[in-house]
Amino acid sequence: MAEYTPMMQQYLKIKAEQKDAFLFYRLGDFYEMFFNDALAASKELEITLTSRDGGGKDRIPMCGVPYHSAENYIKQLIEKGFKVAICEQVEDPKISKGVVKREVVQLITPGTVMEGSMLDEKENNYLASVSEFDDGTFTVSYNDLTTGENSIALITEGFEAVLSELFNRPVKEVVIDEAFDEERQTMFKERLGFTVSYSNTTDIDGQFHNLVEDLHSDKFLAGFGRLLHYIQQTQKRSLEHLRPVNTIELKQYMSLDMYSKRNLELVETLRRQGKKGSLLSVIDQTITAMGSRTLKKWLERPLLSKSEIVSRHDQVEGLLDQFFERETLRDQLTMVYDLERLAGRIAFGNVNARDLIQLKHSLTAIPELMNTLKQFHHPSVGKLHESIDPLPKLREILEQSLSEDAPITIKEGGMIRDGYHSGLDEYRDASINGKKWIAELEGQERQATGIKSLKIGYNRVFGYYIEVTKPNIPNLPEGRYERKQTLTNAERYITPELKEKETLILEAQDKSVELEYQLFIEVREQVKDYVQKLQFLAEQMSRIDVLQGFAQAADQQSYVRPQFNEKRLVDIKQGRHPVVEQVMRNESFVPNDIFMDESKDVLLITGPNMSGKSTYMRQLALTSIMSQMGSFVPCESASLPIFDQIFTRIGAADDLVSGQSTFMVEMLEANHALSHATEHSLILLDEIGRGTSTYDGMALAQAIVEHIHENIRAKTLFSTHYHELTSLEEELARLKNIHVRAEEYEGNVIFLHQIQDGAADESYGIHVAKLANLPSELIERASYLLSTLENGSQEVSVTNEQQLSLFVEEEKPSTPAINSKLEKHLAGLNLMEMTPMDAMNELYQLQKQM
Ligand code: ADP
Repeated sequence: MAEYTPMMQQYLKIKAEQKDAFLFYRLGDFYEMFFNDALAASKELEITLTSRDGGGKDRIPMCGVPYHSAENYIKQLIEKGFKVAICEQVEDPKISKGVVKREVVQLITPGTVMEGSMLDEKENNYLASVSEFDDGTFTVSYNDLTTGENSIALITEGFEAVLSELFNRPVKEVVIDEAFDEERQTMFKERLGFTVSYSNTTDIDGQFHNLVEDLHSDKFLAGFGRLLHYIQQTQKRSLEHLRPVNTIELKQYMSLDMYSKRNLELVETLRRQGKKGSLLSVIDQTITAMGSRTLKKWLERPLLSKSEIVSRHDQVEGLLDQFFERETLRDQLTMVYDLERLAGRIAFGNVNARDLIQLKHSLTAIPELMNTLKQFHHPSVGKLHESIDPLPKLREILEQSLSEDAPITIKEGGMIRDGYHSGLDEYRDASINGKKWIAELEGQERQATGIKSLKIGYNRVFGYYIEVTKPNIPNLPEGRYERKQTLTNAERYITPELKEKETLILEAQDKSVELEYQLFIEVREQVKDYVQKLQFLAEQMSRIDVLQGFAQAADQQSYVRPQFNEKRLVDIKQGRHPVVEQVMRNESFVPNDIFMDESKDVLLITGPNMSGKSTYMRQLALTSIMSQMGSFVPCESASLPIFDQIFTRIGAADDLVSGQSTFMVEMLEANHALSHATEHSLILLDEIGRGTSTYDGMALAQAIVEHIHENIRAKTLFSTHYHELTSLEEELARLKNIHVRAEEYEGNVIFLHQIQDGAADESYGIHVAKLANLPSELIERASYLLSTLENGSQEVSVTNEQQLSLFVEEEKPSTPAINSKLEKHLAGLNLMEMTPMDAMNELYQLQKQM
C-alpha cells in the first residue's frame, strides 16, 4: 500500500469497504474506476480502458465516465444486477490540504434505486429479505423504497413456498444472512434472477420503531429488522416516507404456486418475452402508473373473502354502467401524476419545482374527479368520493409559491412566483430595472457618439460591454471608455456607469437565485408534512384506476360479472380464454361451457393434439383468478366457487431453468398439487405422464386421477392422450369424460374447438403430422402402421427404424442382469402400504435403473 500515491491509498481504503460494488470515485468531472473494477466496467459498459501511474511499479488499469452522464452508466450496471457505490469529494478542493476528502454518499443497488430513469414506472421495485428460523419457517419481507411500502409474510410450508411467493414478483434483490444455505442462494440467483445481498444484523434501530409497532411476533421483528438494517446501510439519507409494515396474511389470498404463476402466464409468458401475451397485458386498462402497479398486486393475490370480492364487483358494475362518466373519469386520471413515487421522492428530498408543479396539477384534477364520482348512480361508486381528501391547503401552498414554468434545476432560479416573497420581488425589480437601464443605454450611447452600429452585449466572462466596430473607433470620445476585449473586427469597452449597473444586476440576480433556493427548500419542507396524506391519496387513486380499468376491459372485451356459490358448482356458459381470444385476429374464438356440479369433480378431457384442450383448461383457471381479483370474466355467465388454491401441470413447459428432466418436473408439480390441494382447490393436469414411456406414464396418470378423486376431491381438469383412461368413468362416480370435437374432412382433420360430452374416438396425431408438412411417404407409412396396430396385428414390418420411432416407443434391448434386479426389487414392494405418490416415486426410481 505504501508504494501508492496518497490518492490511490485513499481509493484503496474506501474500496476495501465496498468489495461487492463498483466504486465510482469522483475525480474532477469524472467518476473513475481502478484495478479490477476498471477491467470489469470497461467490459460491461463498453468504455475505453486506460491506465495511470499510481506510484506502484505497474500502471493501474483505469476507466471513467463523465459525472453528468453517469446516470445512464449506473443504470446499465444496475440492470445487470450489479451495485454501484458513489464516492464524492466532500470538501472543496480549493481549500483542502493534501488529498481531497472523499466519502461514499450512496450505495445504489438493484433493489434500492430511486432514480426515475432507472425504474419501470408500471412496476414496483422491491427489495426483499428472507429469514429462516429454527422451526423451519421463513419470513419474506418486502420494501419498495420508491413508494415507501413495507410488508412481511410468514411462510410455514418450507422453502419451495418461499420460491413460489417470490416468483414473478418485481423483486430485484434479496437480503439474507451470510449463513443462508448455499444451494438456496443459488436458486435465488439462478431461478429467480435476484441480486443476493447480505445482512446479519436483525436489530431494529430506534428511528424505525413506529414502522414495526404492529408486528407482534419476534420472527417478524427479526425478519424485517434485517431488511431495515440493509436499507439503512445503503441509503445514507432520509427514510421518513417508509410506511408501517403491513402483515400479509397469506391465508386471506388465493394461493398460486410458482408453477401456476408460470404456466398460466399471469404476468409474463412462458418464454419470458415480457408482459405481452400475459393475462396482465390483456386486462390492464389502467391510466396511471400507480394503477398499473396496483393491478399487478391484485393479480398476484386474488382474494378469498367473498364480501371483499363482491364489493370490487359492485364498483366495477357501477363504473361499467355509465360510459360517459367513465370516459370523463379516465380523462381526469390522466392528470393525476405518480403521487405514490412522488411522495417517496419528497421524503427523500430530491424533488424539483417541476415535480411540485405536477403535484399541483394532480391536486387540481382531484376535486373535479371527485365530482365525476358523485355522478355515478351505483352507491358503491357514488360514495367513493367521500373518503378522498383533496388536500386543498397543500394545493394552495403550491399555487401561491411556484411559478408555472419552473425549470428542472433548483439552483438557477425561476421557480418562485412573483408576489410570494417581497424580498425576492425587490431583487427581481432591481435586476429588471438594471436591465432596462442597460437597454436604454444603447440608444443613448449611439446618440452621444453618433455610431449607429454601436451595440451593448453580455457574456459570461466579461459581463456587459459596449461593442464598436474597428472603423468606428476613432469616433469614440477619449477617457470614459475602457477597453476590455479585442475581436477581429471590433473592440469591446466598459464605462464606469455600466460597471456599476452590472454589479447591481448581478448582485441582485445572485441574491435572488440564492433566496429562491431557500424559499424552494422551505416549500419542499412544508410539502414533506403531507407525505403520509399523499400516500393515502395515491392509494385511493390507484384503486379507482384499477376498478375503472376493469370496467373498461369488461366493456371492450364483453366480460360479465361472475356469481359465487357455496356448492362447489362450476357453471360457465360460453366461456373464452381471455388471452387467446385477443391474439386470434381473423379466426374467431370458439366459446365453450364448463360445467361441474356437486356430483362431478373431475373432467377427463380427450381429443387430438392442438384441438384446444389446454386452452380450455387454462380458461377455467384464468376466469377464476380474474373473478377473485375483482374483475369481470370472459363468458356469457358464470357461477363459481371461491377457489382457495390453483395448481397446474401444463405440458410444454420445458423447465429450462432448473435443467430437470420433463418427467421429473411433471412429478414435482403433480406432487406439489397432490400434497397441498383441498376440496376447495382447482387442479389442472395436462397430459400428465407424457414425459415417460407409454405404460408407466399411463399407470401414473390413472393413479393420480384416482387419488384426486378418492382423497382430495378438488375440482380437476385432466387432459390425456391415453384413451384407455376414459373407461375410468365407469368406476369413478365423480369423473366425467369430455372431449374436443374434431372432424375429418377429405382426409384432413378439422379442429372445431368444441367441447362435448363423452370420450374422443380417434387419435388424430397423424393428421397433425400431415398439417406440419412431414413427408408424404412418412405419413403413409404411419397410417399403415396405425391401421395394423388398431387391428391388433403384431406383425408390423419395420422398413425404417427411424421412421417407426417417431410414432411408437422404441423397445429397449433387454438386459437380463438388470431385469432380474428390477424384478427382485418389484417383487419386494409392499403395494398395500404405498400411496399413489409413493408408487410414482418408486416407478420413477425403477425407470432410472433401466
Ligand atoms: P391442445 O392442448 O389440445 O394441444 P391447445 O389448447 O394448445 O391444444 O390449442 C391449440 C391452438 O388451437 C391454440 O393455440 C389456439 O390457437 C387454438 N384454439 C384452442 N382453443 C380454441 C377455441 N376455443 N377457439 C378457437 N381456437 C382455439
